[in-house]
Amino acid sequence: MTDVSGVYPADAPASQALFDRASAVTPGGVNSPVRAFRAVGGTPRFMVRGEGPYLFDADGRRYVDLVCSWGPMILGHQHPAVMEAVRAATANGFSFGTPTEGEVALAEEIVSRVAPVEQLRLVSSGTEATMSAIRLARGFTGRSRIVKFAGCYHGHVDSLLAAAGSGLATLALPDTPGVTGAAAADTIVLPYNDVEALQKVFAAEGGQIAAVITEAAAGNMGVVPPSREFEAALRDVTRLSGALLISDEVMTGFRVSRSGWQGLSESGPEPDLFTFGKVMGGGFPAAAFGGRADVMGHLAPAGPVYQAGTLSGNPVATAAGLATLRNLTDDVYGHLLAQSGKLAYAVRDALNAAGVPHTIQFAGSMFSVFFTEQTTVTNYDQARQQNLPAFAAFFHSMLSQGVYLPPSAFEAWFLSAVHDDTVLDQVVSALPAAAAEAARMAP
Ligand code: PLP
Repeated sequence: MTDVSGVYPADAPASQALFDRASAVTPGGVNSPVRAFRAVGGTPRFMVRGEGPYLFDADGRRYVDLVCSWGPMILGHQHPAVMEAVRAATANGFSFGTPTEGEVALAEEIVSRVAPVEQLRLVSSGTEATMSAIRLARGFTGRSRIVKFAGCYHGHVDSLLAAAGSGLATLALPDTPGVTGAAAADTIVLPYNDVEALQKVFAAEGGQIAAVITEAAAGNMGVVPPSREFEAALRDVTRLSGALLISDEVMTGFRVSRSGWQGLSESGPEPDLFTFGKVMGGGFPAAAFGGRADVMGHLAPAGPVYQAGTLSGNPVATAAGLATLRNLTDDVYGHLLAQSGKLAYAVRDALNAAGVPHTIQFAGSMFSVFFTEQTTVTNYDQARQQNLPAFAAFFHSMLSQGVYLPPSAFEAWFLSAVHDDTVLDQVVSALPAAAAEAARMAP
């Protein structure tokens, strides 16, 4: 990781005071590593309120929010329908530890949106969803090995932390201590978008592979869409060998279309299992895994593969998720696509005008900006070849002008239904100064 600590002095005294308190009682001062600003330096902003497309920090500053809680706040903060659904749910109590109708309605909504999903199990985080999907795939196939792709992040599941993107990319960690050799031994890591490597591994040991798990379109090494050939190969090799294909749509699910990436790649593969999170919880902890009924039927209590959760299907979380999904109309998806394009092209123009080498990549309405000389980024090795100090300089200039970007060069930028033209104008007017700062960090 490039050390940028100290380059950007604290100019947020209330956030700094909170960060000092937090650092005394919480490792690194945060409850999820990327929030700590280690990759960009400076003081992480402690937020006190979100409203529409804006966040407000402890120092009373307002920011255009381009993180949207890392994806979930797709309708913006405090959307009236979601607020009302949460109010109504909390009026009945918070958690019963019994089945509730809300869980059924949320599962029905998701099953109706994503055709290959016949059955669904609700959990509380994306990590739980991928962990459980892997266990189910192993239980169903009776095999041990798992294939994942470098730069894809599937949560902090032991066996999936090898060469993972997101926070590990941000902190430049290859993988993590604390994962035993045994937990990692059955994980095969391949380059994303590499058809030949995939075919080779399946030719050699396809009979031992329980599943391939892939980000439907990668968003955790920056945005890297899959090539059509790669998608086709994923389906072919798994089908031929009897392995399951798990499409991780925790990030893309219900964000890039009403049925996620699956809805955009109509000619693409039909995965056996999916994982969802983020948007489907509307800002609350709700996630899910689901897919073929004959596979899901192996889960307890219907089958022998154990999986459970005290707060799974929590009534408040399911109410927020359902209200969010029901308000994601075709108009909202059209708006997200149009606004993402507008913003991305404004970023491109500003960086071009300042002479900053970069590439912008899309997966539907999700996009990210790579500060790189490369014209295209197709895998993690390429994603890592970025001018990280240039990103940090760009980030801090935007922050000081009231725009809250993801504090890492390896994350997607997220918009919401309420990022209208007025909001985007504020972002666009901050771009020339930020591009000039990035240009100062050119090699
Ligand atoms: N899978 C993907 C594709 C993700 O982007 C993430 C989180 O960023 C996860 C899984 C893990 O989700 P959670 O942070 O809810 O555990």
